[in-house]
Order: sequence, then C-alpha cells, then structure tokens
Amino acid sequence: MDGRAVIIGAGIGGLTAARVLSRRYAQVTVLDRDSLAGGGAPRRGVPQGGHGHILLLSGLRELAELFPGLADELVTRGASRFDVGTGLCNYRFGRRRISTPVGRDLTSMSRPLLEAVLRDRVAAEPAVTIRDGVAVTALTGTADAVTGVVLDTGETLAADVVVDCSGRGSRSDRWLAGLGLPAPRQLEVKVGVGYSTRCPVTRRASRRTPAVCPTRSWRT
Ligand SMILES: Cc1cc2nc3c(=O)[nH]c(=O)nc-3n(C[C@H](O)[C@H](O)[C@H](O)COP(=O)(O)OP(=O)(O)OC[C@H]3O[C@@H](n4cnc5c(N)ncnc54)[C@H](O)[C@@H]3O)c2cc1C
Repeated sequence: MDGRAVIIGAGIGGLTAARVLSRRYAQVTVLDRDSLAGGGAPRRGVPQGGHGHILLLSGLRELAELFPGLADELVTRGASRFDVGTGLCNYRFGRRRISTPVGRDLTSMSRPLLEAVLRDRVAAEPAVTIRDGVAVTALTGTADAVTGVVLDTGETLAADVVVDCSGRGSRSDRWLAGLGLPAPRQLEVKVGVGYSTRCPVTRRASRRTPAVCPTRSWRT
C-alpha cells in the first residue's frame, strides 16, 4: 500500500469511503469542519441528526459488509431492533394501519450513535486519521488533476485522491471550476416529502420534563 487519500466530510459517506480506501492507501485523512467530540449530541453539519434514524435492511447489509458485526454492536450501544410490521405505527390517509408481524427486523438509533460506532471503527484503522474542526475551502491542482485540498487554517494537504463526501452543501463544482476543470453533471431528485419525528417519552418523564425531546420536522 502506498499513497495518500483525503476525504472531505466525516458523515456516513466519508466514514465508509475511509473504510474502503484504507485497504488501498497508506494514509487516509478524513476532514470535518464540525467538532466531533459532542458525544451523543446532534451537530451543525448534519441538521437531520436530531431525528431518530432507521437503517433499512439493504443499507444495514451493505454497511455490515464493510463493518462486520455492525448490527449487533449498534444494539449493544443502544440501538433498538423491532419487527417492521409491529414496531412502527403507520397512519395512511388518517387511518392507523393494522399491525402484523412480518418477520423482518429494522434497526433504529440516533444519528450521533450511528456515526459514533462507524467513526470508532474507522479510527481504529492504522492508516486512518480523522481531523475535526477543519473545513476544506478549496482544491489544489492543475487543469489535469486534483492534487490536494486547502484548509481554512491555510494549510495544504497533498493527496493522490480526494473524495468529496461533504453532502448536499458540497462546493466541489466551484472548486473544480477554479482549477479550470469541468464540474460534474448534477442529478437532482425532488422528493417532496415532509415529516416529523419524536422520541418516545414515558408518561412520567413527560409530566416532569415535557420539553426534553421536542418534535422535529423536515421538508425536502
Ligand atoms: C430529515 C432526514 C432524515 C433522514 N433519515 C434517515 C434515516 O432514518 N436513515 C438513513 O439511512 N438515512 C436517513 N437520511 C439520509 C442520510 O442522513 C443521508 O443519506 C446521509 O447523511 C448522507 O451522508 P453523507 O456522508 O453523504 O453527507 P452528510 O451526512 O451530510 O455529511 C457531510 C459531512 O461533511 C461535513 N462537511 C461539509 N462541508 C465540509 C467542508 N467544506 N470541509 C469539511 N467538512 C465538511 C459536514 O460537517 C458533515 O459531517 C435522512 C436525511 C434527512 C435529511
């Protein structure tokens, strides 16, 4: 193994990319502009982090290919596993749908928990360094190739490959244009879905601390 890889963003895309690239590159550096020391708290770069998360079956299966034993570790660290037919309350057109076991389990957890488990696994890879509190502000390179990234500290990191996993706010189209490289074609899928989530609060806790777990809403 040789060479250096730099990954922009330590979200789900960045952490899974780091896992894959650590098999090929001697040094893999994952950069995130957020502080990742917040324990179980949602962070600014992942505004959806306050919503409860569910991993669908195929998503969990793919992640477990990269991180063996992931499903059990998530449950050990606090995730819930439930039958999709009985563990979800489904309302459609105002009517509650009948609960029937379907024999398929889903795994639900907070987004900070999912990230923490993946991040701990990735950080344990000898090739990987995770740096938080640093934002990428530009790419370095020529009109032929990208050769690294510029950080908001003014530092430059050289890389043989740069992977942009900075999510929906990615600026790599502008960064590439700054190097005279064509921007990648963008595909936008309008979903048009809005929803709210709420953590379960026991009756006792809700009487005492009703605002402990506010409802969160999202509209795409
Ligand atoms: C409301 C909502 C609910 C969702 N619920 C689920 C769910 O239940 N289950 C599920 O599987 N998926 C869910 N998703 C989808 C899931 O959140 C996304 O698919 C996933 O977060 C995408 O991961 P990502 O790594 O591409 O980007 P992100 O998670 O957005 O991560 C991007 C990272 O890049 C960092 N970053 C950005 N710019 C820079 C920069 N310049 N320099 C350094 N770092 C930077 C950010 O701080 C962040 O950490 C939900 C999405 C939304 C919006």
